[in-house]
Amino acid sequence: MHSDKVRRRQTVLAVSFLLAAIFFLTAAANAAPVKNLIVLIMDGCGDEQLTLARWFKGAPLALDDMRTGAVKTYTSDAVIADSAPAATAYATGIRTAGTMIGLAPPVKNIPGLPPSAPELALKPQASVLEGARLLGKATGIVVTSRISHATPAAYFAHVGKRSQEEDITEQGVYQGIDVVLGGGRRYLLPAQAGGSRQDQEDLTAVLRSRNYQLIEHKDAFTKISEPKVYGLFAMSHLAPEIDRPDLAPEQPSLAEMTQKAISLLSTNKNGFFLMVEGSQIDWACHANDPAHLLSDLLMFDQAVQVALDFAKKDGQTLVLALPDHNTGGLSIGNRRSDETYDKLTPEILLAPLKKMRRSAPALWQSLGADRSPERIREAVRRDWGLDISLEHARQIADLAKTFGQEGHYALGEVICPHYTQLGWTTHGHTGGDVPLFAYGPSRPVGLLEAQDIGRLSARALGFDLELLTMRLFVEAGQAFPAEAVQLDRTDPHNPVLRIQHQGRQAALPLNKNLLLLNNEQVALEGIVIQVAETGKIYLPLEAVHRIKGDSKPLPAIQK
Ligand SMILES: [Zn+2]
Repeated sequence: MHSDKVRRRQTVLAVSFLLAAIFFLTAAANAAPVKNLIVLIMDGCGDEQLTLARWFKGAPLALDDMRTGAVKTYTSDAVIADSAPAATAYATGIRTAGTMIGLAPPVKNIPGLPPSAPELALKPQASVLEGARLLGKATGIVVTSRISHATPAAYFAHVGKRSQEEDITEQGVYQGIDVVLGGGRRYLLPAQAGGSRQDQEDLTAVLRSRNYQLIEHKDAFTKISEPKVYGLFAMSHLAPEIDRPDLAPEQPSLAEMTQKAISLLSTNKNGFFLMVEGSQIDWACHANDPAHLLSDLLMFDQAVQVALDFAKKDGQTLVLALPDHNTGGLSIGNRRSDETYDKLTPEILLAPLKKMRRSAPALWQSLGADRSPERIREAVRRDWGLDISLEHARQIADLAKTFGQEGHYALGEVICPHYTQLGWTTHGHTGGDVPLFAYGPSRPVGLLEAQDIGRLSARALGFDLELLTMRLFVEAGQAFPAEAVQLDRTDPHNPVLRIQHQGRQAALPLNKNLLLLNNEQVALEGIVIQVAETGKIYLPLEAVHRIKGDSKPLPAIQK
């Protein structure tokens, strides 16, 4: 009797130890390193810009405490990156080519660059945002450009060229992103409603039918306490930060949008993924425009502070901040300082910059059609506080003609070498490594490859990008016999994939997440896309299962 009791107690103990061990093992296997991920991208930036911003601010940047390494930015076909392949590497973990968004590169043999994988050539690659959504996390995009611009697009779209902004915006709408804040309303609306859509679709109606709140003024922020939200505050891009208070007071700042996005997304108990872009740092550097650069970069740093404050309190959030590439070739010091650089005080460096009150594009636009040297001289005195010579004003007028639409590029090119201590080497991008900043659990350290950012992002959230790609992008021609699949182009702007399978009729419009099966509509977990470069169409595995009547569960995206 007594020994029986002991034995029973021992058994109970052993079983509970076993259960505890199983619990801990499974918990360890399922536990992702972080609950939330915030990626903040300063487009077209480098160390010299950050040093200049720190001098200008006269105090440390929020970024300063987060420095952990650097990232190599070359693409699969060039030593200097465009934003499209650069952001694709960060979003999908695949280094790509040209101006492709969310696709693996074509096979090219370029001596000196690592070869790309032939089996992936021109295939869509799933993104960190798509994976976060499949894990039940909330997702958000916050930018100061059109939301269809290359960097944000890489997180939610799959197209051969970044210029396909109509397709990009549509794919974004059907990705079900919870919070989208930025510019680019014109790609939501058909041409007859004042928009830019050739397919005549009104995506604002689609968003409303999917229970989104659509806002166009920052005052509406106070009325919104939960997702889903589309806040597009301009038909095209938002205003440069330095001009915003005067020229576009209805637009929120990048830090305000970041704050709002985090407060909305963090209501999801499964966590969230948020991508934030300081989109215009790049444009300021393209233009060699210190006024636009400093105001937008310091506002980006405020957005970083917002993310950091949340992450510090939360303890389960990884924050990454980094440029996608560098632009402009900025230097503190130029030919004027060749003989005097060791006597350059902060006061001398900052004196001309402190007087600037407008971005170069706003200054240039204020001239209207009269771009005479006299008017240019007057506008530079008024907006940049600099008394330039009539000869330099004449040089600006002449140079501006060679820049066409980008006439304002002439301002920085002529003024910086003569009236500031700043040098610029190009109006294009540059190819150096970019600084990496990170805070939180499993933060990356050291010199990384661009695609490492995508892979470590997915790893931090606890999923595998390759498994995700296999689940979201199945080539139609591989899942079904060729004769069963047809692309219906009756409406050339809205092609529909039609599949016949054992008497079932399926219709899947491109760029959407919809399946019409025997007249019943299903919202899919991913979008249907066509890669124009190969003509191939990809659909989520979920659609293949439904069409085939296959009820087995979809494969996990965790390894
Ligand atoms: Zn650029």
